[in-house]
Amino acid sequence: MAALTPLGEGKPRKVVVLGSTGSIGVSTLDLFEQANLAVDILALTAGRNVEKLAEQALRWKPQVAVIDDETCLPELRERLAGSGVRAAAGAAAVSEAAAMGAEWVMSAIVGAAGLAPTLAAARTGAVIALANKESLVCAGPALLAIARAAGGSVIPVDSEHSAIFQVLQRDCIDRVSRLILTASGGPFRTWDKAAMAKATPEQAVAHPNWSMGAKISVDSATMMNKGLEMIEASYLFDTPQERIDVVIHPQSVIHSLVEYTDGSTLAQLGPPDMRSPISCAYSWPQRLSWPAKPLDLAAYASLTFEAPDLQRFPSIAIAREALRLGGGAPAAMNAANEVAVAAFLDRQIGFLDIAGAVAGTLERMNGLGELADSAGDALDSAMMTDASARRIAAEVVGQKRI
Ligand code: NAD
Ligand code: MG
Repeated sequence: MAALTPLGEGKPRKVVVLGSTGSIGVSTLDLFEQANLAVDILALTAGRNVEKLAEQALRWKPQVAVIDDETCLPELRERLAGSGVRAAAGAAAVSEAAAMGAEWVMSAIVGAAGLAPTLAAARTGAVIALANKESLVCAGPALLAIARAAGGSVIPVDSEHSAIFQVLQRDCIDRVSRLILTASGGPFRTWDKAAMAKATPEQAVAHPNWSMGAKISVDSATMMNKGLEMIEASYLFDTPQERIDVVIHPQSVIHSLVEYTDGSTLAQLGPPDMRSPISCAYSWPQRLSWPAKPLDLAAYASLTFEAPDLQRFPSIAIAREALRLGGGAPAAMNAANEVAVAAFLDRQIGFLDIAGAVAGTLERMNGLGELADSAGDALDSAMMTDASARRIAAEVVGQKRI
């Protein structure tokens, strides 16, 4: 693991927050404040929320604030005038910010757009706090190898993977029999298929336990989020899909479990608050102290569990198949899902069509032989698969248009 400026000695740690205006980005900056951390923020980046980015930049005074959407640059410049914070724009500038030499990089852009900047950060040997699960799904083995070769590391922020990361006994990894990912089941856990077919974007983003960005909220409703997380877990913990299970746990208190071959199963618990896994990723192997809400188990009265219903939530099976196929299948699945979720949020297709469009895209690409493992640069091959999956998914979505 890269040598990080030690905690609690008053010397600031150099950090970059990619996707600072999103749900995870805001929680990250809030944690810095709550835990009273000494941080030297080199860069903050956002997609197109120029107002929030400027507000954060004025508060945190990074060297540079980067907006992906270049049409927003004049406004960003205007808002930062006289502040000493440089304004920049465009995808290349986001990746440059990721590679500024920070010790710790929060990767919290949503979607495959996070892959290039995350790889750029990995090449510098930084510790990467990885929320952007899509970058692992697109190019997991390459991303992890690049981080390792550069002397850095990837610490998961996704709550399930943070849980596993925390309870995994690394010196007896061959005694792990199963990784068990918990899932809340999302807002439609108890809905029948007919009701799900008519679900609106507003209903899909209203998650019962977590407040998150729109895309991951829809992924939680379809349970593709758990599919993406299975792939994420398989790469992060080098575990085949047969040894990764999913259990529905509506209270989101147990964040995931590791089952060992001696009959012992270890779990990590906590109230649903992403600042907790972010805190872990910031301080590992130490722990921060901040006014985190304690877990009041008695207030929950009961914790419940059920098996996922693959008829209503086929995305889990689709992700298993993508993982089994290997090669470009996970990247293609991810791209098709991004296209389908955007079309659903735009009211072009129905809720159940999301999984249908993803399965249809994978089937078509497999038939065309486009999912085979490709050689060459990880970013290039992942981006090529991503682009052709987006093109095919747009056609498949077009056929489902309501
Ligand atoms: P969000 O939509 O709230 O925020 C996304 C951030 O990325 C914003 O800052 C946005 O401006 C930026 N962005 C969007 N498109 C961009 C682009 N093309 N280029 C550069 N920046 C862009 O999303 P979120 O809920 O914070 O999730 C971020 C990531 O973390 C996702 O991969 C998600 O799956 C993962 N995650 C989130 C949570 C959660 O509780 N929100 C939990 C686990 C994992
Ligand atoms: Mg998660």
